[in-house]
Amino acid sequence: MVVTVTGPAKILVVDDSQAQREKLAQVLRGEGWEVTVARDGKEAIKLVRSAQPDLVLLDMILPDMDGREVLRLIKPRDAETFMPVIILSVKGDTATKVEGLRIGADDFLVKGVEDPEIIARCQAMLRIKNLQERLREMQRKLEEQSITDSLTGLKNRRFFDERLHEEFRRAQRYGDYLSLIMVDLDHFKQVNDRFGHQAGDGVLRDAAALIRASLRDPDICARYGGEEFAVILPKTHMSGALAVAERIWRAIGAKEFVIGPGEEGKAPRAITVTGSIGVAFYPSKDINSSDLLLRFADQALYQAKRSGRNTICLYQAAPYRYEAQKG
Ligand code: GH3
Ligand code: MG
Ligand code: MG
Repeated sequence: MVVTVTGPAKILVVDDSQAQREKLAQVLRGEGWEVTVARDGKEAIKLVRSAQPDLVLLDMILPDMDGREVLRLIKPRDAETFMPVIILSVKGDTATKVEGLRIGADDFLVKGVEDPEIIARCQAMLRIKNLQERLREMQRKLEEQSITDSLTGLKNRRFFDERLHEEFRRAQRYGDYLSLIMVDLDHFKQVNDRFGHQAGDGVLRDAAALIRASLRDPDICARYGGEEFAVILPKTHMSGALAVAERIWRAIGAKEFVIGPGEEGKAPRAITVTGSIGVAFYPSKDINSSDLLLRFADQALYQAKRSGRNTICLYQAAPYRYEAQKG
């Protein structure tokens, strides 16, 4: 994960000449930056890993390694991290500069350059790095939002559909168990009708938290629709899934959902809600795709509704008739 830079920027200066190293470090520290120094390639590589600098000033000629090799080794390989490297070189001809930039440096300085220019170039690089990190952070937030249900904070339907598909394939490939639980709140329309939509939203949020709290870490819990939730239980067999379903069912049924305070100074009050639950599991006869697992969990939920709500139903394949051979 990318952490946005807070506090002073960290700069690593790599130079084998102690005098040059110290002078440069002093100039940069004068700007309020936190400076660490390395005197050869090996030390530079170690410090890049441990100190995680925001910017590296890299001398091309080092006692132990070629600067180009060091550059190759310290430049982050993932597209998400940007750690600018400015080459410091005694040679300032076009060919040298072009080569440096081509092999991955972000800027190039010829030794002897005056301090204000060094500072300005560092500032420019740090500006780009900061912008890149803000963009990355924004992208991360958007990605998170795109898979999250905004009301309950659970995962949304899009994420659920994808994961169910993946988990099913995994279970099939490795011969693992996989269970699916669908939960639908009973007569939820009445909650809205009697107490208002906002109160209904509050109940949904609380119910989501109860379901989440009934699960273990690898379980995936999503808001499947309005007042319907879905839980994927990887590596969980039928009896395990039933135990989880029962925990959810009990938690919802026992909860006193607080409504209000309403308009006109109405005092807060507590209501109870029940849930109907459908459970399906893999491996089961007739279930050979994630779509079917979902369909049968949904059928079990429908069965729970038809048999009076506030209950748990388990999908069961029709009994298989064994044709014994006569004679
Ligand atoms: P059943 O026991 O058959 O499930 O009855 P029900 O009333 O719960 O089911 P129905 O499908 O008839 O109605 C679902 C209700 O859930 C109606 C809808 O207003 C409410 N609902 C769906 N999404 C939200 C939401 O985001 N916020 C609120 N407050 N209510 C919602
Ligand atoms: Mg309902
Ligand atoms: Mg519903």
